[in-house]
Amino acid sequence: MSDGRFAFRVNAPLGLEGPEAATLWEFGCRAVSEEDGTVVGYFDRRVELPLEGEWQERADVDYLQRYYDELQAVTVGNLVVAPSHREVTLGFGQKVLWLDPGMAFGSGHHETTHMALAALGRRELYGLTVLDVGAGSGILAIAADLLGAERAYGIDIDESTVEVARSNARSNRSRASFFAGSLDPDRHRADLIVANLFAELHAFLAADYARVLSEGSELLVTGILADRAQLVSDGLAPYFDVTGRYEDGEWVLFEARRNSRPVPESSGDGSVAPLEHEHVPSGEGRKGSSGGQQQDDEQEKLSRRWDS
Ligand code: SAH
Repeated sequence: MSDGRFAFRVNAPLGLEGPEAATLWEFGCRAVSEEDGTVVGYFDRRVELPLEGEWQERADVDYLQRYYDELQAVTVGNLVVAPSHREVTLGFGQKVLWLDPGMAFGSGHHETTHMALAALGRRELYGLTVLDVGAGSGILAIAADLLGAERAYGIDIDESTVEVARSNARSNRSRASFFAGSLDPDRHRADLIVANLFAELHAFLAADYARVLSEGSELLVTGILADRAQLVSDGLAPYFDVTGRYEDGEWVLFEARRNSRPVPESSGDGSVAPLEHEHVPSGEGRKGSSGGQQQDDEQEKLSRRWDS
């Protein structure tokens, strides 16, 4: 096949999650693969790229096929997350979650997604309404549905993810539903919130999480770099008791339980995160330029997971 026969190789310390891969997608590559600190984007033709790297023409390998072959299934607890073109063999008690992230973040390979899936898997979800804030590919809401939640839904400020998430829900015959938008305590209700965002945003949303959840309900938050974890625990402290902390590499997940303290009325400036405009979010792999405002390095690094 001729698709993707021009390969562009670039150093990329953050691999497929990094800005280089995002830029490759933005400039129209057909597929991206990762090898030892470099990513390779496969294009139909050479294009001008704002990256320092090297072009190679490799006509006779079916790179797109190889890319698909490299997308492996991931097992977390009883869930096997697999791209829909894969065959999976399930062990006793395991369920498959078919997932094609497309341009949306959330293939199940990232540590944060992994930890969030594991945290959902540790819970009894029967009878609960689960809200996934920053649903991306829809993986967490769909997982919650497969794991027995009464209702699961996801919201994302990036409208383009909503169709991806809905399509993934259909592939799984999942009733999980998805909507564009940010967290709105006047509209959203949940017995459990799971959110894979980033530290500053969790701190900012803490009061809204608390407005949505009633006493005793749980919050699972990840996307937090370990050296930013304090920011989140401080932000949650007025309204939540942190009951668990998990780490995977440099990433942290907090489990927290809503306490009885009431949240003051919102200041009336709306509940839209101020940071959301600095993020033109989207894919594990899509786009590159950072909104670039005064985000410091850590913020940048984190945002680049799913953002641009
Ligand atoms: N839940 C998936 C995807 C997480 S990526 C997973 O765990 O793998 C984070 C997602 O949050 C992105 O799709 C981004 O568009 C979305 N997002 C960013 N800020 C948001 C906000 N303020 N409200 C809702 N979604 C937001």
